[in-house]
Amino acid sequence: MEWTNFPKLELGKGTEGRILALPLAKDKGIAKTMIGTTPIDNDFYKGGSRLLEYKNKIIIAIGVESDKDSRKFGNAAWKAAEAFLGPVKFHLVPDFLDEEKTLEGALLGSYKFSKYLTEKKERPWIVFHGSEQNMNNALLKARATFITRDLVNEPTNKLYPESFAEMVRELFSGSKVEVKVYPYSWLKENGFGGIVSVGKGSENKPRLIVMKYCPTKTKPILIIGKGISFDSGGIHLKPTGYIEDMKMDMAGAATATGIIYGISKLGLQKDVIVITPMAENMPSGNAAKPGDVITMYNKKNVEIWNTDAEGRVVMADALAYGIEKFKPEISIDLATLTGACVIALGERIAGLMGTDQKTMNEIKKAGEETEEDFWQLPMAKHFAKKLDSDVADFRNSASKGYGGASIAAAFLKNFIKGNWVHIDIAGPATSKTGWLWNPKEGTGFGTRTIIEWLMNRK
Ligand SMILES: [Zn+2]
Repeated sequence: MEWTNFPKLELGKGTEGRILALPLAKDKGIAKTMIGTTPIDNDFYKGGSRLLEYKNKIIIAIGVESDKDSRKFGNAAWKAAEAFLGPVKFHLVPDFLDEEKTLEGALLGSYKFSKYLTEKKERPWIVFHGSEQNMNNALLKARATFITRDLVNEPTNKLYPESFAEMVRELFSGSKVEVKVYPYSWLKENGFGGIVSVGKGSENKPRLIVMKYCPTKTKPILIIGKGISFDSGGIHLKPTGYIEDMKMDMAGAATATGIIYGISKLGLQKDVIVITPMAENMPSGNAAKPGDVITMYNKKNVEIWNTDAEGRVVMADALAYGIEKFKPEISIDLATLTGACVIALGERIAGLMGTDQKTMNEIKKAGEETEEDFWQLPMAKHFAKKLDSDVADFRNSASKGYGGASIAAAFLKNFIKGNWVHIDIAGPATSKTGWLWNPKEGTGFGTRTIIEWLMNRK
């Protein structure tokens, strides 16, 4: 696997260099001192960018409102340098802003998935004015996010359950993360009725991948990531306009992989186990059919009401297995699970559900630190009623009505023991337009927040 590179990067200090990217606040900073009384309109301080000349220097001035705008500054500085000046060496000077977050913003904003472009553009070169420690921290968090983004962006003819397993093996070979890949035959023999049902219709058969980072040998934190490498909808085939970007339906698995990469490189003293159930949801003569009754890993019988509600089915098996096998302190799952969550919260906010209020609060707070938004949705008991079945314990999908994000969570709850948080990332995992330092397509959303949460968790 060829991973996306960072821009060239070196350390600098003071106000050395001919091209300086500097934050410009109304009342403070180096840029303010240099430029003096140059009139700049009020809107500029909400993130405007402008090239200014000062003696023999070029200043890329980025307007900032407050000290909290470090990532915004880094991102805008990178983008302005590339747009105004091209492949130049520019000095990124955080000045009064946070060094690590400034570089993180620049690196995250520099991301471009260009491995399949035969003509590659030269890019700017960052001279970072900050400490080596802050540089390394920013590099690590950005690297984890790049891994998530690259995996989400990889096309489905290159990334399918078997090849994903190989990519993960290669990524973690020689590292502190142990990777185990369970093949289709093992899933069939061991009663993973959900994963088998979803994946059997494809030529690319399912895999279950377990990644373990266990430096302390205590109760682990279990993270499950949904890994539908392509979601055609199955026999409930998705129409044009809804199917084209469905390579992204493994963003949960990508995020979980980015997270364990990050915490293993940080050397965090906390045991984390990631499980990614990988399957391709395809229509074929061998595919699951509406009305099928399947027996899940936890022996519950599920009526497949809609073959496009496949994510919860693979997640349910992985959660039940992970909880039984590893007896975690808490289970977190990340999934591009429902369009209903996007309708409720929009494209930039993840839905937060589950049984562990304390952890949900902690994750929301970690998100404030990383500038990723999470919002809690209800888990009211009546949602489960929508899944009542006449022939099995319950259905995988409601036939009609609203509240789809909560109904999906109600389905998953049938497979949970102990503390659990469910994160529906269907909105923010990808973007059609990009926002801030989040590019088009895979954004890597959630990777930095869960790393942050793990770093802070007592
Ligand atoms: Zn689906």
